[in-house]
Amino acid sequence: MESKTKIVFATGNPNKLKEVREMLGESVEVLGLTDIGCTEEIPETSPTIEGNAILKAQYVKENYGLDCFSEDTGLEVEALDGQPGVFSARYAGPQKDSSDNMKLVLDKLQDQENRSARFKTVIALIQGSKLETFEGIINGHITINPKGEKGFGYDPIFQPEGYEQTFAELNRTEKNEISHRARAVRKLVKYLQGSNGYT
Ligand code: IMP
Repeated sequence: MESKTKIVFATGNPNKLKEVREMLGESVEVLGLTDIGCTEEIPETSPTIEGNAILKAQYVKENYGLDCFSEDTGLEVEALDGQPGVFSARYAGPQKDSSDNMKLVLDKLQDQENRSARFKTVIALIQGSKLETFEGIINGHITINPKGEKGFGYDPIFQPEGYEQTFAELNRTEKNEISHRARAVRKLVKYLQGSNGYT
């Protein structure tokens, strides 16, 4: 029996792992950080989303010697000059609490008419010594109140363009069709298909 190609996805976030596994399908076995015994927190010290994605992939390559990809995501709110951006996870403090983060965004946008926002994902892939990055963006706006129970992070306050529901009201399949991460992952898959028969 042919064995599946394994690639590490440098994330400790089980939600992201689940989403990306569903998007990549059966042809690739995607290992998470816990699968390779990496339990330490990988430093995310870059001032940009792209920089942090690259740092995480480099960390796994350097410390575990494995080909891998990583991703970093940020919510960029137009009226807040692109914040929380690279600080999305710890916007309201080091506790990295999604409810606190959403509350802070909503508070800062109180009485603000321009509620345009976007999610941006950058995936960094390291194969051997080669580095490639892939970007995915979805435009939308920040709702007045949180709505929906699904998803994670800022999903309850983000309504994608062309939809009446927030990400937290869409089911996973619907979100996976249009999300920032899906768009970046599709570029990654296309690249892997074209480059080396991974899929
Ligand atoms: P990180 O890329 O895991 O550092 O995520 C940055 C922040 O964005 C965290 O607070 C996540 O919860 C949030 N986030 C990442 N992806 C999504 C998403 O698809 N929907 C909502 N929030 C997200």
